[in-house]
Amino acid sequence: MGVDNFVNWLRDAAGSLHDNAAYLTELDSAIGDADHGANMDRGFRAIVALLDETSFETVDELMKKAGMTLVSKVGGASGPLYGTFFLRFGTALAGADLTPATIGEAFTAGVGGILQRGKAELGDKTMYDAWAPALDAYDAAVAGGADLAGALTAAAEAAAKGRDATVPLVARKGRASYLGERSAGHQDPGATSTTLLLESAARTLP
Ligand code: ADP
Ligand code: MG
Ligand code: MG
Repeated sequence: MGVDNFVNWLRDAAGSLHDNAAYLTELDSAIGDADHGANMDRGFRAIVALLDETSFETVDELMKKAGMTLVSKVGGASGPLYGTFFLRFGTALAGADLTPATIGEAFTAGVGGILQRGKAELGDKTMYDAWAPALDAYDAAVAGGADLAGALTAAAEAAAKGRDATVPLVARKGRASYLGERSAGHQDPGATSTTLLLESAARTLP
């Protein structure tokens, strides 16, 4: 377990977000400004370019640089939110052994950054509605003795349920909140990209 595993995650995530860019943008066209797929694809392409030109010694260095790349390349709500997630994720792992427990703490720290920036609460129809059940499922799996792949698989499954549960919700944060009641009946784009990121982590991290 080392920095190469996290490089694999970021590369796989970039591929998944690229493959799903049209889908994410379609979701955002219903309740936003039809750019979420393009935003995520642009940000993760820039991360791949970074990985192609730089080799990283540590996970914290890698994730912090990935986060800074998202902040600088992706506008809108999702750039600063995902950027902060990766920055905090990296910071939490500085000097730490890479275990299911410390990686879980890094996920929690990353999501704490999303909350600090975006002020979302559960049920606001945002990416947090995927992250929150994912963190709970991850921690429960680790407490039950799961390895990293097992905990991430549980997290990705919980994120997918949280994503699906955003459909009937009325948005209370972000652009979708401008629609009020008309935002109900549509799946949140950010909860969808969060699920893709976690599915990618479950595929790539051992
Ligand atoms: P923008 O809305 O600026 O065009 P994107 O379309 O890239 O940005 O991202 C939209 C997603 O960002 C939403 O689907 C939602 O999940 C997430 N989001 C928006 N505002 C917040 C917030 N305050 N907290 C958490 N997530 C948010
Ligand atoms: Mg948008
Ligand atoms: Mg936008």
